[in-house]
Amino acid sequence: MPSIELSTQLRDVKGVGNKFASSLEKLHIHTVKDLLYHFPTRYQDFSDVRNISDIDENATVTIHGVITKTSITRTPRKHMYIVQAYVEDGTGKAKAVWFNQKYLITTLKKGSSINISGKVSFDGKTPQFTSPEFEIISSEKTPRHTGKLIPIYPETKGVTSRLIRFVIGKVLPFIQVKEFLPQHIIQKNSFPSLQDSFHAIHSPSSLDEAEAAFKRFSFQEIFLIQLTQAFERYKLSQHKAYISSYAPEKISSYLTSLPFELTASQKEVLYEILEDMGRTHPTSRLVQGDVGSGKTVVVALASLVIADNGFQAVFMAPTEILARQHFLTFTHLFPHTNTGVALLTAHHAIAFFGDGLETELSKKDLLSYIKKGSIRIVFGTHAVIQKDVSFKHLALVVVDEQHRFGVEQRSRLTKQKDILPHFISMSATPIPRTLSLTIFGDLSLSTITELPKDRKKIKTEIVPPPKQPAVYEFIRSELDKGHQCFVICPRIEASDESEKKNILFLDAVSVKEEYARLSTGEFKNYTVGMLHGQMKSEEKASVMKQFKEGSIDVLVSTSIVEVGVDVPNATTMIIEGAQLFGLAQLHQFRGRIGRGTEQSHCFLFTKTSGVQNKRLKALVSAKNGFELAEIDLSLRGPGQFLGSEQSGMPDLAMKALSDSQLISSAHKEAFGLIQKDPTLAKYPYLATYLSLFKKSLHLE
Ligand code: ADP
Ligand code: MG
Repeated sequence: MPSIELSTQLRDVKGVGNKFASSLEKLHIHTVKDLLYHFPTRYQDFSDVRNISDIDENATVTIHGVITKTSITRTPRKHMYIVQAYVEDGTGKAKAVWFNQKYLITTLKKGSSINISGKVSFDGKTPQFTSPEFEIISSEKTPRHTGKLIPIYPETKGVTSRLIRFVIGKVLPFIQVKEFLPQHIIQKNSFPSLQDSFHAIHSPSSLDEAEAAFKRFSFQEIFLIQLTQAFERYKLSQHKAYISSYAPEKISSYLTSLPFELTASQKEVLYEILEDMGRTHPTSRLVQGDVGSGKTVVVALASLVIADNGFQAVFMAPTEILARQHFLTFTHLFPHTNTGVALLTAHHAIAFFGDGLETELSKKDLLSYIKKGSIRIVFGTHAVIQKDVSFKHLALVVVDEQHRFGVEQRSRLTKQKDILPHFISMSATPIPRTLSLTIFGDLSLSTITELPKDRKKIKTEIVPPPKQPAVYEFIRSELDKGHQCFVICPRIEASDESEKKNILFLDAVSVKEEYARLSTGEFKNYTVGMLHGQMKSEEKASVMKQFKEGSIDVLVSTSIVEVGVDVPNATTMIIEGAQLFGLAQLHQFRGRIGRGTEQSHCFLFTKTSGVQNKRLKALVSAKNGFELAEIDLSLRGPGQFLGSEQSGMPDLAMKALSDSQLISSAHKEAFGLIQKDPTLAKYPYLATYLSLFKKSLHLE
């Protein structure tokens, strides 16, 4: 039989057949490579092969014998089929029983050689196996389900581990795979070769062997991710950037004009960014900081420096509300700047030329100002980087919570193709250190570690129903002092009847119901507003504006207020159905309050009282977002830090993320290699493998 390549389609492999190939497609397994990378989650140890006379109760063993008798019966009440077989090996007799697998009676033929593996119980003196693994043995076939370490795979309906082992058996003996990791890395780490690793994973002779292969594959995944990022950095270094310098006196004057003093941590990050701006090559930086730590003002200062140098900066927010808010914050913090500043969204085209000179203008005019360069700082949604917007000298792109902005994206924004803007991502999602090294290996990291010093820690409480009336009472007293309140609900509409019966939806309070209830009940003497994603964008903007201006006292909202909304006068928050949200998200919500100097309170409402909720407790006790992130990592694994569950991060890499030594060694090797040989000219096969890998990876 000719050797099988990784790229071969499984249906073309001899002995696999269309039916099995189609079944495997349910697990997104199409090629030999897909199959070989479908790793077992564990191994069942059936390597203890015994004579029947030698087996002990409760041991997990394999016996080898001949079928001497079979029978099929049906239970009277449940009409369940029971298939029984007796097996003898010359030292004794054992019995095996299977339930509801009627077809076995034709598979198990009297006189056949059989292996049976499983846990032993005794029926009188006769050892008995209940629903064991088995396989009919012939001289030309090596056992794959019994008698050794048996891989157990992730399964799905109609695709059992047994089926996968069968197909592996048709592939594994014939593969010829080339090594793609550089030899020096293989040697330094004593890794098994790729070919040996596939054998060791799918058909190990010992657990140690399997583990060594796992280790190699884990390294490989992290290494490839890092290589992708090292290469991204290299590509940037091949371009030029506009060089912005700053005069320290100018910075001082900006700082003294602010209504507050920057924290030491904010200043540090500001100077890190200013260093970037002075470089000859475009940079990528992630500015991390807890909600309320004051990231925006830092980046705003940097963009003023860009403008002072005659260049342009653009700020992108995920929603119109936030874009508008950033714009307003900026014009309030720097009312006298004579740099042209603008807001550009689907519904707004506003220019600000200093000293309160704010004008609505046509989008067309605004675009022409941007093109001429007389507008130097632009706030907006993603609308600001559409085709119709062209900048004169775009030197900086700032985005909230979007972590990558590659060479291609940057080039689309500039006309001089060799000059690309710097990029800053602002993130309030704290990520544990080991994770950020891997996921953001291509970004420089800045962290604002402290909150402004006048901030008080938000008091957070888990509130079961009996205590909720007292909370409303307390909130009314806060409202009477002129403060405001958020009520966050998990959903927009009322649940339908069938859902209401479902325990999972018990807490799924809807915005519409809660708005109706509160505005006529608990808060009937106050102005209550409502905000959710089904509202038109003008309606949303108007509600937010009223809340910001204080004409709405209580805002009942969905998670739409999650990111960045800034209303310092809001001192209380109720989160309905708190346990329905993730920890990072709850932390984000809570960050909407405690932004002024007053003591703020966050109430986590939950009807499922008595349920041990480690996450809610962590939220009550953790000191800051980074501590919470570490807790979340240990409670739920790395998945949730990478956005949705379909994060694009391969499973294996996800597991490896907790191995910080492996991560730093992969990081070093990858960046070292790209530094020596940026195009991987000496490693053509690695380059090919990497480009295939990149296609399967969608890191955000
Ligand atoms: P975030 O990091 O969540 O984006 P913001 O930049 O929106 O935080 O800042 C939150 C609020 O704190 C804003 O009203 C901002 O003007 C204010 N702020 C920023 N830095 C300081 C500081 N050093 N002292 C006092 N208030 C500050
Ligand atoms: Mg913000």
